[in-house]
Amino acid sequence: MSETIFTKIINKEIPADILFEDDRVLAFKDINPQAPIHFLVIPKTPIATTNDIGVEDEAVVGYMHRVASKICYDLGVAEQGFRTVMNCNNDGGQTVYHIHLHVLAGKPLGWPPYQDRLKVE
Ligand code: 5GP
Repeated sequence: MSETIFTKIINKEIPADILFEDDRVLAFKDINPQAPIHFLVIPKTPIATTNDIGVEDEAVVGYMHRVASKICYDLGVAEQGFRTVMNCNNDGGQTVYHIHLHVLAGKPLGWPPYQDRLKVE
């Protein structure tokens, strides 16, 4: 798997606004926020897409969600609520091929999240 910008962030080769870090995951603010609070949780071991999550990765993917919730509690928005999204490949809108959990919060979020809504006759 080729290196992405997120490996550079993990290795501190480029800066990021880090919210949480341990040996398994890193969480940092998205550079182009789509909500008042928008951060990403990534595994330190790169996994390209959701399709590439193996049995050996199940624990860290679950842990990414627990870290998302912990940070939302720290930021005071867990009880109001938040959204987690993991985009996969082209149609999912993925641009960085190192899985990342988007965490969006800080206002009521619209649903459905896409603009080209299906027409229902
Ligand atoms: P995707 O489109 O792959 O689901 O999401 C990639 C996300 O990474 C985007 O929301 C984008 O704003 C964010 N991003 C891309 N490059 C950087 C960067 O260098 N620093 C930070 N903090 N976020 C980035």
